[in-house]
Amino acid sequence: MTPSALLSQIDLNRSPWWDDAGPAEPSPALAGERAVDVIIIGGGFTGLSTAWHLLRRQPSLGVALIEARRLGNGASGRNGGQVLHWVNGVGTTEPELTRRVYEVTDRGIRQVEALAAEGPDDLGFTKGGALEVFTSDSGAADAKAWVDRVASFGIDLRWLDGAEVAARLGFKGAIGATFDPHTGQVNGVRLCRALAQRAEALGLQLFEDTPALRIVEGAQVEVHTPNGVLRAPKLVLATNAYSHLLGYLGGAYVPVQSHMVSTAPLSPAERAAIGWSQLDGFTDDMDRIAYSARTATGRVVFGGGSNAAYAYQHGGLTAFAGDPSAGHAAVTRRLHECLPGAAPLPITHRWTGALGLTLSRRPAFGVTGSHQNIFYGIGYSGHGIALGQVGGEIIADLVRGEPEPWADLPFVNAGAGLWIPPDPFRWVGYQVFTTLTGRSPRVKR
Ligand SMILES: Cc1cc2nc3c(=O)[nH]c(=O)nc-3n(C[C@H](O)[C@H](O)[C@H](O)COP(=O)(O)OP(=O)(O)OC[C@H]3O[C@@H](n4cnc5c(N)ncnc54)[C@H](O)[C@@H]3O)c2cc1C
Repeated sequence: MTPSALLSQIDLNRSPWWDDAGPAEPSPALAGERAVDVIIIGGGFTGLSTAWHLLRRQPSLGVALIEARRLGNGASGRNGGQVLHWVNGVGTTEPELTRRVYEVTDRGIRQVEALAAEGPDDLGFTKGGALEVFTSDSGAADAKAWVDRVASFGIDLRWLDGAEVAARLGFKGAIGATFDPHTGQVNGVRLCRALAQRAEALGLQLFEDTPALRIVEGAQVEVHTPNGVLRAPKLVLATNAYSHLLGYLGGAYVPVQSHMVSTAPLSPAERAAIGWSQLDGFTDDMDRIAYSARTATGRVVFGGGSNAAYAYQHGGLTAFAGDPSAGHAAVTRRLHECLPGAAPLPITHRWTGALGLTLSRRPAFGVTGSHQNIFYGIGYSGHGIALGQVGGEIIADLVRGEPEPWADLPFVNAGAGLWIPPDPFRWVGYQVFTTLTGRSPRVKR
């Protein structure tokens, strides 16, 4: 692939997280040839966390990470900000597995919390909890039963009735909500930079503005970039929804675009008008899920909420082609429906990001390639902030040949799940599925 063809699919991050993080001096681009022990492609949570955990476990390793643009350019720097428990596609009926999945994702949340507490960087992290709001009697009854079940497994999750929800959030039509008090929100761009600083202090060789154009497999993998080549016995693909552009994992996931909008930082009066207090974020109960967080800088970011808020583009494009304004308008409408008090607030940012979705919604961590030396973590759906941190630990252990700590997880070394046919079948399937689920409640857990 030519540099311009690849970069046309890795568009620039236009989110408020990027603007709120402020400028940062870029690392140099790769020039010349280098041999290392592990190459990582991708400067989001997965790549940076893998680098950090690899070097913490084995400081003598030579690790090089290349990022096509700047750290946090992908989903990690343009998401909904909520640092959440749970892994999509893994059920919660079996007590031991439910506790384990909670514990694994809680580990990711605690890693973010610890990084934020250590400083010196301000990650914009807060830990004020999240709601999943229910708007129908049957959905609320199911969700309450679910809270009772997981609480019986020892997990601290609470049910709030309509009045208790109203005390935290002015969500129109809320009958009740699950409340997870141990979740938070974070600025992903700052989190990426903090992970990079920690890894660089341990010896990471970091290159920005360095797109991987071609991978040559072998006992020594070669990664070709515009002005240099990296060689190593092991490669980590931390390229999420962009992986198929390099010829990998294309049948395992679908790159789905999610449109988002953000308000300006709210004044206390504006916050009171939308009834937002003691809370970091929320989601609703629809299949085409709406999600929102209040940033540490005081903005409300909001995404999803209808078919028009999401898109799969024919050909697996990862940059949104054409005019995204209809998507952003649909997101804004849904924001105003959910929080009527937000209607007068100006929208300062409109942006779009690509999620990697597997058919089972389950993520996949594993190894591929003719020499079984290309490691990956993909398919986190909208739960990649906490999972991306632990994902780095999982991949670091897979790279080091020590998968045992994670062997009980159904998404580690378990294959990438159901194969997804290529276009045009994929595109047609997406249209049919979304037409059927456009305004329907989410499937039960
Ligand atoms: C709009 C949106 C909202 C979301 N909301 C939430 C949320 O509220 N909570 C939550 O937990 N999760 C959320 N997610 C999911 C979460 O952000 C992702 O799962 C997570 O960031 C994935 O991290 P990653 O490092 O695997 O991928 P990415 O952050 O996408 O990183 C991949 C990186 O690889 C680089 N790259 C790609 N190809 C190449 C190449 N050829 N050469 C070099 N570099 C390359 C890209 O530039 C990019 O920086 C959201 C995602 C989106 C898009």
